[in-house]
Amino acid sequence: MEGELVLEWMRRTADRVQRMAARLDTLDGAIGDGDHGNNVRRGFTYVAGCLSFPTGERPDAGPLLSRTGDVLINTVGGASGPLLGGAFRAMGNELAAARGRPEGLAAALDAGAAAIQRLGAAQPGDKTMYDAFTAAAAAGGSAVRAGAELPDVVRAVARAAQEGMLATVPMQARKGRASYLGLRSVGHQDPGATTIFLIFDALKEAVESA
Ligand code: ADP
Ligand code: MG
Repeated sequence: MEGELVLEWMRRTADRVQRMAARLDTLDGAIGDGDHGNNVRRGFTYVAGCLSFPTGERPDAGPLLSRTGDVLINTVGGASGPLLGGAFRAMGNELAAARGRPEGLAAALDAGAAAIQRLGAAQPGDKTMYDAFTAAAAAGGSAVRAGAELPDVVRAVARAAQEGMLATVPMQARKGRASYLGLRSVGHQDPGATTIFLIFDALKEAVESA
């Protein structure tokens, strides 16, 4: 993955999250405190504003993603900020270590999912962003192992993130604020999982536009 692609990915993520902020707040209002859209809108707006190349320089994707993670940790807030930021940091570190090998993206997605689980201790099925992220990572790994090219890999990742997001609807929340609702959390889509879908759908768009 090229540094320019990360910039385009983050610009498109900021755009998607800005347009969906009210919807994310509404989702969080149903099973949380209604601030998730505002939290991630603030974070990705900062990211899009501060990631840039000094003229002539071509930073690699890994450091750009790690820097994105730092900015998210410092600006998103809530329970989701450290989890999202930790995932981007882990993806950036893994991508840097992979030095352009094709399986680097799959390893990065796995590292992102692992970071969310390490920091938030969610299990699959707990109705969190982890459900969408881990579905995306699994699909990315399968596509890379099958020899798919980047556009097909990110299409599979975005589709799986969407399925992972939709799969949270019937789940009962076992982590985060939504877990306080017990059975009343059933029937609502998790806001954090929705953000993960927006992030990976923006990646798909960025690759398709390149
Ligand atoms: P807060 O709950 O502090 O208001 P946000 O509203 O920004 O934070 O984020 C809520 C989202 O964070 C949830 O929809 C869920 O996806 C995610 N989340 C909360 N706790 C956890 C956890 N322990 N592991 C994974 N994701 C979590
Ligand atoms: Mg909230």
